[in-house]
This record gives sequence, structure tokens and C-alpha cells, in this order.
Amino acid sequence: MSRYLIDRYQSLEAYVPGEQPRDMQYVKLNTNESPYPPAPGVVEAVTGEAGRLQLYSDPVCVGLRDALAARYGVTRQNVFVSNGSDDILNFAFMAFGSPRAYFPDISYGFYPVYAELHGLEAHPIPLRANFSIDPTDYMALDGFIAIANPNAPTGMALTTAQIEDIVVSNPDRVVLIDEAYVDFGAESCVPLTAKYENLLVVQTFSKSRSMAGARLGFAIANEALIADLEKIKFSTNPYSINRMTLAAGIATLKADDVCTENCRKVMQTREATVERLRQLGFEVLPSKANFVFARHPHADGGFLYRQLKAKGVLVRHFDSPRIKDFLRITIGAPEQMEALFEKLGEILDGTDAKDRF
Ligand code: PMP
Repeated sequence: MSRYLIDRYQSLEAYVPGEQPRDMQYVKLNTNESPYPPAPGVVEAVTGEAGRLQLYSDPVCVGLRDALAARYGVTRQNVFVSNGSDDILNFAFMAFGSPRAYFPDISYGFYPVYAELHGLEAHPIPLRANFSIDPTDYMALDGFIAIANPNAPTGMALTTAQIEDIVVSNPDRVVLIDEAYVDFGAESCVPLTAKYENLLVVQTFSKSRSMAGARLGFAIANEALIADLEKIKFSTNPYSINRMTLAAGIATLKADDVCTENCRKVMQTREATVERLRQLGFEVLPSKANFVFARHPHADGGFLYRQLKAKGVLVRHFDSPRIKDFLRITIGAPEQMEALFEKLGEILDGTDAKDRF
């Protein structure tokens, strides 16, 4: 840290993204990326735009917003797009957070970082003992509310009826529902945005649409909330989405059936993965996401993570008190899951784990 950094950022603890290692080729099940390539037509669309990089991208993103509006049955004025949903979450905390932000204590690690970054009072609300969110904890609060649905890293989802109760009971506050993983089996709150002016739904192209590397997120809400987000974007970086990503997003939406089919495959692999993990003795939380959160009664989470990594399989481990026994395992292609189970089998059969059982 330099001596020039202003006081309020000195104690800021930045978010730590999952590892993107370069030392060797891993079976990469640690950052919830799609195992499937971008949709047909995306590579051509991106290549076409690459030849026009001397020109700025469209700051209003008309083509992409219209395509999203058509896909979700809303108007362009109900759609906001920016550079990954992280960008949108940041804008939302900045725009709607003051002075307090409420979110589950075990959730996306970026929420407390945004709260701190924007000088908000952060109020983490504990999950129940079974790691579910208790909706009654979110009634009539005096601040901005952010909930990931499905939640991460648990994968557990609330119903839209439960979320609607939260939205109704906080009419003077924005309720942000982060639907990064919604396409893998949870119910989306997008239809509720027509009814409630305080509901902001945020989604991403990173997971179900195989575009994590392109950085594209979107929000759907009432026109006034979208105008607020536009104001923040136009006060920071109007060209936050580059030409190639805009083109990739539009091409992806044209092939939405392919993305839906990929999600179906991921969900099928997830069910098989849960079954096999349970057979190995793991407790697995009920997941509606493209990852599972699991712990073994006799094996330390950090130990399993390190052993798997040494054997070339990368999963995510969070070294925080209530969840340090868990592994978060992204659902990959079936052959990647085979590799995971082969290595887990070796570790759990005792030869590598003598002193840990
Ligand atoms: N929300 C949640 C709950 C996430 O897990 C992630 C992925 N790290 C994001 C938002 C951000 O996704 P992106 O910025 O790639 O759209």
C-alpha cells in the first residue's frame, strides 16, 4: 500500500477470485464456468467486430438490450447491461445502498466488499443451521437488501413467493436478487419486476451462456431503477461493454436453445454427481446451481481441496468458520466429473489420508 491511498480504502479487503492457475493443466471445477463452448455464431460475431475495434462501442447498447427485452418479455427501458454482473452489483450497492446493506452471512463474497467500498454499514444475516435463508429475517428492514438466488456457495434457492414477500415488505428499499445461477433449475423473479418498482433482478452471461471470459451481465427492473443504473454507468464508463462482447451477447441470444440444452446437461450431470458424492459419504446441500456444496464427515475440507489440487483437480474451498468443512464443486462435463471421482476415490480409500480419518 502506498502512502497516497486515501484513508477510507486503507482497510478495504479486496475480493479474492477463484484461482486461474497457469502452472499446469487442471480439471477446473473451481469458478463455476460452463464446461461447454460459446453458442454457435459467437466466434464469427466476435471476429467480425474485431475488425472494427478502432470505433467505440454503442454506449446505449441498443441491439443487445432489445434482444434481451424480447427474450424476457420486457421493454428496452427495463434492461440494463454492463461489464459482467459484478459491475452491476457494484453500481447497485453504490446507487441504492446508503446507509445500510443487508445480505446473508454466507453468500457471494463480493457483497461485503462493495458495502465497504461504498462506505455502507454491512449487516450480514446468518443463514439457518441447515444453510438455508430464512425469508422472515428480511422483512421490513431499514436498508438495501441483496440476496443471491440460488445462493452461492450453498446452491440453495428460495421460491419466487418467498422473495415476493420480502419485496412487498420493503417497499421503500431496493431488493436486489442476484440470479447468476437461476438457469440451472431455480425460479426467476424477472416476471415480478413488472409488479414491483423496488425489485432489481441481476443476471449474467457467464454461467448458463458460456461467456465468462467476455464479461457481460444484465439487470431487469422497473424503468426508473434502470435509469438510475444508467446514470451511474454514464458517470463512470459509458463504454463498459466492448464491441466484441456486445456482438457475442446478441449472437448467444439467437442460439438460446443451445444454452438451454447446455443447462439441461449440467443439471443432469449435477444429479448424477450428487448421487455419487452421497455414495462416498458426503453430505450435499440441495443445489439449484451449476455447482454443489458438500462436506465429508471424516475428511477435512482444506485437506480434500489440497489433495485434489495435487492430483490435478481444482475445486473451491472457503477457509471461513461455518463452511470450512465444505468443498464447492463446479459441475463440469461428465468426463471432468469422472476425473474428480477417480481422484476422490484414491484420497478417501485411505492411502492418501491415513492421519485424517
Ligand atoms: N453473482 C454471483 C452469486 C456469482 O457467484 C458471480 C460469479 N463470481 C457473480 C455474481 C459475477 O458474475 P459475472 O461478473 O461473471 O457476471
